[in-house]
Amino acid sequence: MTTLTPILSQNWDRPDSFTIDGYRATGGYDSLRRALTMEPDSIVDLVKESGLRGRGGAGFPTGMKWGFLPKDNPNPRYLVVNADESEPGTCKDIPLMLANPHVLVEGVAIASYAIRSNQAFIYVRGEVVHVVRRLRQAVADAYAAGLLGKDVLGSGFDLDVVVHAGAGAYICGEETALLDSLEGYRGQPRLKPPFPAVAGLYASPTVVNNVESIASVPGIVANGAEWFTSMGTEKSAGFGFFSLSGHVTNPGQYEAPLGITLRELLDMAGGVRAGHQLKFWTPGGSSTPIFTEEHLDTPLDFESVGAAGSMLGTRALQIFDETTCVVRAVGRWIAFYAHESCGKCTPCREGNFWMVQVLDRLERGEGTEADIDKLLQICDNLLGRSFCALGDGAASPVMSSIKHFRQEYVDHFEKGGCPFDHSRSTVWA
Ligand code: NAD
Ligand code: SF4
Repeated sequence: MTTLTPILSQNWDRPDSFTIDGYRATGGYDSLRRALTMEPDSIVDLVKESGLRGRGGAGFPTGMKWGFLPKDNPNPRYLVVNADESEPGTCKDIPLMLANPHVLVEGVAIASYAIRSNQAFIYVRGEVVHVVRRLRQAVADAYAAGLLGKDVLGSGFDLDVVVHAGAGAYICGEETALLDSLEGYRGQPRLKPPFPAVAGLYASPTVVNNVESIASVPGIVANGAEWFTSMGTEKSAGFGFFSLSGHVTNPGQYEAPLGITLRELLDMAGGVRAGHQLKFWTPGGSSTPIFTEEHLDTPLDFESVGAAGSMLGTRALQIFDETTCVVRAVGRWIAFYAHESCGKCTPCREGNFWMVQVLDRLERGEGTEADIDKLLQICDNLLGRSFCALGDGAASPVMSSIKHFRQEYVDHFEKGGCPFDHSRSTVWA
């Protein structure tokens, strides 16, 4: 039986967990002090050895990304924290930044030192003004305490940190659109390669990391790589937040080793809401193919979820019980993607627009068998043919829902309307 590992969330119930004094009282900033006595490259090696993989969804090895920065480029290097959390169901970075902004600030300082950057940015989703304020306060307090700015803790290392609020576009969570937005342009994805590590912010070498990835670094510096690899699985080391939402008795953040299963998490969360059964769920937000009851025992690590036909993504576990109409749920997600498509490439701009029309028609009971095939055809034009991951992400719930619940699509037009009573499903409230 896997148990929870409250590490980043360890002190969340302390009333002063978000203050610099509260953070320091629990050992905060000791890792920065230690890191500043180490060679920058040895910190990169330590993070490589820990096996930490990006917690923003893609799972790219963090230390390897840091190691990609070209050594011969004379331009300044930048660290950019992607705090633009916006994926439907994804809700881990925002509570982390609210409850413990200093673990992120400390991680930023260590990571910047490790990659030899003197300028870092934290790009926060614009709508969460309370988070922006909290981070700015944390950064100001860290400056006042000599933990940021000139000559950090007397080490000779200088670091400036800017907290930047985005304007509320989902696509600005895509790392290159984020960089365009940070430069003052309209946020649209850039062609990769070159990856940001080679030509990122202002065409300079840039590391873009997710909040949870950077916040995991102080713990690795304090406890060592073996401590981190002692949790999780061989290829998916460490711990992470699993965000349970929807039809679950106790929704919230469950911090646990990678490889835990939904069955174990549901046991801790009081199960699916009383009197109901699990119908489908997302392992990593709405852009990952949906799972059903048959995947309850799939270990939630990058390899196992991939082998089972989905992606670990952001570990946003949205739970839907038998009262939920899958056509309606998928239709809502696609309406979101259609709204948030940046319009740069035709498959995504047009494909999502058309999928919304077809899904609406099907849900009203006015569709046909040909509409289901039309959806699959549009997905075929999206998957692998879109400019960025948004297009692939939109195709995932459509294709997987048809794979698992094709008969439910058919029921809608055979019965001449949606067979579900939406008032029974609290997710539509
Ligand atoms: P990706 O696989 O293209 O890249 C992952 C990271 O690795 C990037 O930082 C990229 O620059 C780097 N990288 C990959 N190959 C590289 C190379 N050869 N050299 C240097 N760097 C390299 O994935 P992505 O498009 O950045 O992200 C997709 C993921 O984002 C999805 O899996 C999804 O789960 C997640 N996502 C998260 C949110 C959220 O709110 N957190 C929202 C939408 C999507
Ligand atoms: Fe823009 Fe969508 Fe194309 Fe991405 S896939 S570049 S969001 S239109």
